[in-house]
Amino acid sequence: IVYSKKYVSLTRNELIEAVQSQISSKRFQHVLGVEQAAVQLAERYGVSIEKASIAALTHDYAKERSDKEMRELISHEKLDLEWLDYGSNIWHGPLGALLVERELGISNLDILNAIKHHTVGAEKMSLLEQVIYVADYIEPGRDFPGVEQVRTLAADDLQAAVGYETKQTLYYLIEKNRRIYPKTIATYNKWVANP
Ligand code: GDP
Ligand code: FE
Ligand code: FE
Ligand code: FE
Repeated sequence: IVYSKKYVSLTRNELIEAVQSQISSKRFQHVLGVEQAAVQLAERYGVSIEKASIAALTHDYAKERSDKEMRELISHEKLDLEWLDYGSNIWHGPLGALLVERELGISNLDILNAIKHHTVGAEKMSLLEQVIYVADYIEPGRDFPGVEQVRTLAADDLQAAVGYETKQTLYYLIEKNRRIYPKTIATYNKWVANP
């Protein structure tokens, strides 16, 4: 994939280096898997391959920033204090979008929303947001219960894949007695329980 420079001033290799500097090699392998899955879904559903690649490579950009730095960012920038109750698993999406914009100069809103919503989804998601949400779940390195069903669904019904993934995530969180972030429930209500 050769970037047009419409969305980021870096080449793909430079973007890869910028991302690699932020995360462990294990997570970096995951990120490359998400890019592969996202590009495949983008081709299937007529989404920009360049936007899918950029959003995939940057989606976990903030995942390994220290809790201290992220807590300070939330309070200094007057962001959502509710994130403090959930930790990095929830804040790395929205704070990732903010840091990717600031540090990598990416300003395309569709890409930033795909990063922002990749963990919990949203009631309204563009095709690119759906592609990243699903690619994060089905990339080749993933082995969750239900991942094969999501892979199969994603091959011809992206919205059904979003719904199935959301339901599996909720099953998992409930099984583990984890706190459910309210936006996760809003995503479920729209994409699963929607009459
Ligand atoms: P990753 O960053 O590639 O590991 O994947 P995600 O960004 O999709 O998810 C990060 C973590 O957040 C996963 O362990 C999810 O199970 C978890 N997660 C997703 N939704 C919620 C939620 O509503 N509440 C909590 N506590 N965790 C969640
Ligand atoms: Fe993530
Ligand atoms: Fe995810
Ligand atoms: Fe991820």
